[in-house]
Amino acid sequence: MTDSVYSSKVKISDCNSYDKEKIRLILKEHFKYIGVTSELIRDKKIVIKPNLVTASAPSSASTTHPSVIEAVYEELRELGANDVIIAESPGGPYNVPCLKRIYRATGISEMSEVCGLPLNLDCSFRKMSFSEGRKLKEFDIITPIAEADIIFNICKLKTHSLTGLSCAIKNLFGVIPGTLKFEMHAAYPNLDSFSEMLVDLNLTLMERKKIISVCDAIVSMEGNGPTNGTPVNTGLILTSDNAFFMDIAAEKLAGIQGETKYLDIGAERLGISRICSDELAIADRPNGLLRPDSKSGAFLKSLQNIFGGRISRFFEPKPKISVRCIGCGKCVESCPQKTITLEMKKGKKIAKIKYGNCIRCYCCQELCPHGAVDTSKNFILRSIH
Ligand code: SF4
Ligand code: SF4
Repeated sequence: MTDSVYSSKVKISDCNSYDKEKIRLILKEHFKYIGVTSELIRDKKIVIKPNLVTASAPSSASTTHPSVIEAVYEELRELGANDVIIAESPGGPYNVPCLKRIYRATGISEMSEVCGLPLNLDCSFRKMSFSEGRKLKEFDIITPIAEADIIFNICKLKTHSLTGLSCAIKNLFGVIPGTLKFEMHAAYPNLDSFSEMLVDLNLTLMERKKIISVCDAIVSMEGNGPTNGTPVNTGLILTSDNAFFMDIAAEKLAGIQGETKYLDIGAERLGISRICSDELAIADRPNGLLRPDSKSGAFLKSLQNIFGGRISRFFEPKPKISVRCIGCGKCVESCPQKTITLEMKKGKKIAKIKYGNCIRCYCCQELCPHGAVDTSKNFILRSIH
């Protein structure tokens, strides 16, 4: 790996609207700072990888806003890029009808019609190996990403029920095709092993590709992210040539500095500091984001430290099907442990979780289209917080 891969440039600017021209002005400055030049991108295969986790409107703050994507695309075109495509494997099946539905719902189709950015509909994937992988040495990666020279990783700042934070590193989990992501959750069923695999994946990509991350933190998501939380104005755009440094800054912005497992692992493996450098002073905002209900803070953490995680499972919050459930069955399809069934209750179909096999991955909460999966806290935790 070259030195430049591990440089620590993160640029953060205020941006209080999705006005495309305003975003372009900011990106011009950021790209100059990061070193995104005509020389870098000329004749390169470029993929824009947004966060399109579910078929939600941009106002939900679950997905990258189309104005940010359009602004990135137009800046790249101005710099002379001529081979750019948008590609994403959302949080469900990876096939053409699903992709079209997601593009439509997230405003990407409309944006693409206006600016001419091509949308990927090739649902094939390739193997990509990484000899230094600790959990996994070979990944299945969607073809456009596998073939790209440069990835523009256009992520969203969100809290996340499993990992705590979703920004640049977690966004790249969306290069794994469709339901294979559920298999990864089953194969790496706790936060430590999942985080190590996530770092393996990011290092695999970093070894072969130039990755420029741009974070849409104009409106972020707090609470039960990545899809079931609340939009909150944070008024920022971040750009970095290193996804780990981007997330170290994002973690600080979110008010959860030092709490993200994959950043502990990434910092150790890359030999980088977990502390934000001076240039990130702007990120020292007074208000962080509300944590997901699944992250119950210091008490649970202290139990994990004392009992090596064994007792904390008892205290750990768990997903809970609410009365809003309409029995659509999406969570049954998305549960990696196959521990959700549909049952009849008072003449109505409703999902039911068998907790014995539940690994607290929160895929059910993430992918329920009706926001019907809540988080239930143990009564002791409820009385403490
Ligand atoms: S919990 Fe959500 S995804 Fe699952 S059946 Fe109910 S409405 Fe559908
Ligand atoms: S019930 Fe929900 S949290 Fe539990 S394993 Fe299934 S998808 Fe994951």
